[in-house]
Amino acid sequence: MKGKIGVTTENIFPVIKQFLYSDHEIFLRELVANAVDASQKMKALASSGDFKGELGDIKVSIELDENEKILRIIDRGIGMTEEEVDRYINQIAFSSAGEFLEKYKDQIGSIIGHFGLGFYSAFMVSKKVTIDTLSWVEGAKAVRWTCDGSPEYTLEPSDKTDRGTVISLYIDDDSVEFAQKARISQLLGKYCKFMPVPVVFGKKTEWKDGKSVETGEDNIINSIEPIWTRTPSELKDEDYLKFYRELYPMEEEPMFWIHLNVDYPFNLTGVLYFPKIKERMSIDKNKIQLYCNQMFVTEHVDNIVPDFLTLLHGVIDSPDIPLNVSRSYLQSDSNVKKISTYITKKVSDRLEEIFKEHRDQFEQKWDNIKLFIEYGMLSDEKFCERAMNFALLKNTEGKYFSLEDYRKAVEPEQTDKDKNVVYLYATLPQEQYSFIEAAKNKGYDVLLMDCELDSHFVNLLESKVEHTRFARVDSDSVDNLIVKEEKAKPEMSEDDKKALDELFKSALPEGNDYMVEPQNLGENSAPVLITQNEFMRRYREMSAMGGGMNFYGSLPQSYNIIVNMENPLIGKIWADRENQTELLNQVVDLALLGCGLLKGKKLADFIARSEKLLK
Ligand code: ADP
Repeated sequence: MKGKIGVTTENIFPVIKQFLYSDHEIFLRELVANAVDASQKMKALASSGDFKGELGDIKVSIELDENEKILRIIDRGIGMTEEEVDRYINQIAFSSAGEFLEKYKDQIGSIIGHFGLGFYSAFMVSKKVTIDTLSWVEGAKAVRWTCDGSPEYTLEPSDKTDRGTVISLYIDDDSVEFAQKARISQLLGKYCKFMPVPVVFGKKTEWKDGKSVETGEDNIINSIEPIWTRTPSELKDEDYLKFYRELYPMEEEPMFWIHLNVDYPFNLTGVLYFPKIKERMSIDKNKIQLYCNQMFVTEHVDNIVPDFLTLLHGVIDSPDIPLNVSRSYLQSDSNVKKISTYITKKVSDRLEEIFKEHRDQFEQKWDNIKLFIEYGMLSDEKFCERAMNFALLKNTEGKYFSLEDYRKAVEPEQTDKDKNVVYLYATLPQEQYSFIEAAKNKGYDVLLMDCELDSHFVNLLESKVEHTRFARVDSDSVDNLIVKEEKAKPEMSEDDKKALDELFKSALPEGNDYMVEPQNLGENSAPVLITQNEFMRRYREMSAMGGGMNFYGSLPQSYNIIVNMENPLIGKIWADRENQTELLNQVVDLALLGCGLLKGKKLADFIARSEKLLK
């Protein structure tokens, strides 16, 4: 019997080939998925008692004849009767193909490359396709359907004697890669690794007398019950770690994981892992694999999980994520939105749970998850709200505090005259050592903020926690970091101020901006302090990271030079400024040294001068 496939486009196959060029390889996933589907239906019929015969070994086999370039997908599923072939293949499969192309012809390029193309995707790689199938229904006759890529097909009796379906692809000359064992093996590994029915590709091999030989045993390429489909209570840590190693053999062990499992209002399972993150720049996004009923769909989950969660690794499986739509549509899909909200909530729940129940573990791992959490807080309002409960601050002594506890701890000593609590922090503890020590001696605590997102994070906390101000420990003299009462400024005429300004600038290295500022800091405090204005510095750092504030990034570094007029050395220099150049250079260089600014020749001069002055 011959017939014409009922599609409007005269010949859709060249169209399919052309438009879907980039993603030809998905044909295998589609055909194996159909075979798995038919196998599961068969099992269901047997367990419901509708089918009483011999079920046999339910598996899907992939056979490749490399010479003839024929690829076969064989299942022991429900098969199709002649009438079903006509209905499902001739009418539905092909007309939906036509509809699909009609609907998306304007935006075909922007469609994500992964849609349920179904059976006819076989024609992306084949010059001819045959279906030999025998239905499970009693008395059914085996049929063979053949189509060479024109809209005409033939339907004739088949000599198939056992139940199920064999799809034979006669691989086209421009697709010979799909007639190669290694390529098929790779594709099965990519798309079918966790399908729910055993998928067999050839026989297992073993090493014998120095060469690899086939054994009699089926080479099953998938694991049919991956951990995300199992009940969390049955699973041990080791199972999760083992699965992680299976997914990412090259990665370090993950920090934590979350088992996702919902069936209402949408269906979603999966396991998400927190990888060890040290630097944001080195993070590979696209490490979450999206599955649909254990069938691999994509590694691009950008619009399905919020941006900061794409830093996680693992698997999400949901039949409720529409696959055959464009990315912009995906963003506005209500299911996708719900899924994204759900995942964010689950992640916060889990973190809060570890924070509450395993505080020591949480603290131990904080340095490695901090970047992730800060990124999440900066980019996701909802997550931020939740994370305010479990985000930690670490001080320069390595002690961790929750935001609330920290505030309680520093409030008594570090509240300024305007009732703001001033959080002091260091970014480079070695270079800022003397400032940290000065603050500690005064009874202050100093936080460590050495993460690359910290300058943004500090801004965020200032805006979230009322009456809070952050100040880097070297942004002013210790007395001025937290001003508790107004202090009298040294009394100096404008001319004297100008003279002081010129005097000190003459001793400072060129290339930066300086503000010379006389202050009374007491006779026991350092003669000169070099600080950097908190806000100027923060804006520079943020614009260096790319925050759209490049104006600040291009400014020269600017420093405040605080001259302690009460210090006796300054008194000596000031009183005899024409003759005290050596001493002037010495006190200025000492201050430069204290903040890492004394370099090269100036450093050598300083050492030589010190030796001379000591004599
Ligand atoms: P979809 O799988 O999305 O329904 P397809 O074009 O892949 O669309 O397949 C159309 C129909 O053909 C299927 O719904 C199924 O009824 C039938 N079919 C395809 N492959 C098989 C198979 N291996 N065994 C039994 N029926 C099949």
